[in-house]
Amino acid sequence: MHVVIVGAGIIGLATAFELDTRGCEVTLIDPGSGHGASRAAAGMLAPAAETTWGQGALHELLGTSNERYPQFVQRIEEHTGRRPDYIRNSTLVVAAEPADREALHDLVQLQNSLGFSAQVLLPSAARRLEPALASNISGAVLCADDHQIDPRSVTAILAGYFADRIIAEEVEELIFSNGATRAVKTSSGRIVEGDQIVLATGLQQVHGAPALPLRPVYGDILRMQGPDRFPLISHTIRGIVHREPVYLVPRRDGSIVLGASSREDENPAVNIGQMHKLLDNAKRLVPGIVDCSLNEVIARARPGTPDDRPLIGRVDEGLVLSTGYSRHGVLLAPFGSALTADLVQNADHNAAHARAVDPARFTAPGTENEPSTPTFLEMHR
Ligand SMILES: Cc1cc2nc3c(=O)[nH]c(=O)nc-3n(C[C@H](O)[C@H](O)[C@H](O)COP(=O)(O)OP(=O)(O)OC[C@H]3O[C@@H](n4cnc5c(N)ncnc54)[C@H](O)[C@@H]3O)c2cc1C
Repeated sequence: MHVVIVGAGIIGLATAFELDTRGCEVTLIDPGSGHGASRAAAGMLAPAAETTWGQGALHELLGTSNERYPQFVQRIEEHTGRRPDYIRNSTLVVAAEPADREALHDLVQLQNSLGFSAQVLLPSAARRLEPALASNISGAVLCADDHQIDPRSVTAILAGYFADRIIAEEVEELIFSNGATRAVKTSSGRIVEGDQIVLATGLQQVHGAPALPLRPVYGDILRMQGPDRFPLISHTIRGIVHREPVYLVPRRDGSIVLGASSREDENPAVNIGQMHKLLDNAKRLVPGIVDCSLNEVIARARPGTPDDRPLIGRVDEGLVLSTGYSRHGVLLAPFGSALTADLVQNADHNAAHARAVDPARFTAPGTENEPSTPTFLEMHR
């Protein structure tokens, strides 16, 4: 089977990898592989620390994908000869003020009830784990199973592996015949046919595809270099400072990713006010960041959906969607790529998981249980 995958961010590439290892022939099409949202992502694999009230089925998907990560990394290494920068360093969630501590502790019971590891620590115990934490933090929770990966290492390795199978062009439209998608047309007018087409274009919508409930949720994020001789921090540190979230993710080379804002102002440029707030809040938790040097500042849009769950589903006989991964696309890559590959191959899969991410869940109000009513996808095509 020949599968054409439009979009080579972490989702398109992971899906290509999954299908390749299952024996499919794959072609990827993307003018800027790995330079969308995946370029900005911090790569936190943090189902426990990301837990909030009212996320519905999302918890289970995040937990399932996190459990698959070690094997996902192992398989990439076995097939490509290169190992992504996956670090099992756990996550410390730290509260600056007493009110922040209350918000943090409120969540622990929920996290544990969902099967995630979350343990309340005294500030002194947190500082023993991370001596660079400020002496006046008011509380901490250790999420022992929340780790991290550098998403750039994943996209670089997979883009290298598929180098001769990536067409560096934009897809302008989908081509139908006999009621199904059979091919795509690129910006140079080239027609690329496939037995199956996968749309993994993140936020971007392609002419001929159903209109999807996607919106840009911009994030500003910076990368800095810690002191040469000793890493400043070793755990991923997520913090709440005056109810505002901030995180610091240490990489193997001593660099630290500091993020991230969340804004829906339609402005793709880096926002100075947001950067200032992030730096200020991070300094409140880890004062030593003032000795770091700046490597990079970047803003990208997360492909947001109304319920933060991705949109993965079959549209017609020839087209499968895999997009809308919101703020969890790196964590969800093992889950999303496997489910997308199952749908492409019409293979058995977990029906409850597929329902949780089915784009058809956004049917018009009151029509959900009426089989004769057109689905979201049919209505919006
Ligand atoms: C600041 C920030 C921090 C984040 N941190 C985390 C984190 O810690 N953990 C986590 O799990 N997630 C995180 N995310 C979310 C994560 O980055 C996204 O969910 C994920 O990258 C989505 O991957 P994708 O492949 O769907 O999209 P993208 O990476 O955006 O890739 C889509 C690709 O499609 C291509 N494309 C678009 N249109 C076309 C077309 N017409 N033809 C051909 N190609 C096309 C684009 O060029 C692009 O390369 C973060 C996001 C941001 C912005």
